[in-house]
Amino acid sequence: MSDDCLFCKIINGVIPADIVDQNDTALAFRDINPQAATHILIIPKAHIASTRDLNDGNIHCLSEMAVMANKIADSEGISESGYRWVINTGNDGGQTVHHLHLHLLGGRQLQWPPG
Ligand code: 5GP
Ligand code: ZN
Repeated sequence: MSDDCLFCKIINGVIPADIVDQNDTALAFRDINPQAATHILIIPKAHIASTRDLNDGNIHCLSEMAVMANKIADSEGISESGYRWVINTGNDGGQTVHHLHLHLLGGRQLQWPPG
């Protein structure tokens, strides 16, 4: 938990969010500014600032997030049509919220390469 972290505030219910799924380790909620019909953020409940802070002691969070993302892709009906997972890291990566999050994007044809 980090006092000044937006996503920790969502975890703690201080800031409301449209929650899609959660368990002891991970939380999923809809992005406030969706870039596709399905745009869901999956985050660890522990405050991990970015992929740079993943290590042997907390890497299990990422597999829990991945399993949750697959379950949500099924429930959103985008598993067969396809989707994209995105994790932005640091300034050049376009990370604006410094609590690790996996974007699950789908429901339209996504372009490549990203901007
Ligand atoms: P990043 O650019 O760090 O990879 O992604 C941060 C994401 O968090 C953005 O897609 C942004 O729309 C989303 N976001 C920022 N503030 C809030 C918020 O208060 N609630 C929700 N649900 N999403 C947010
Ligand atoms: Zn946090």
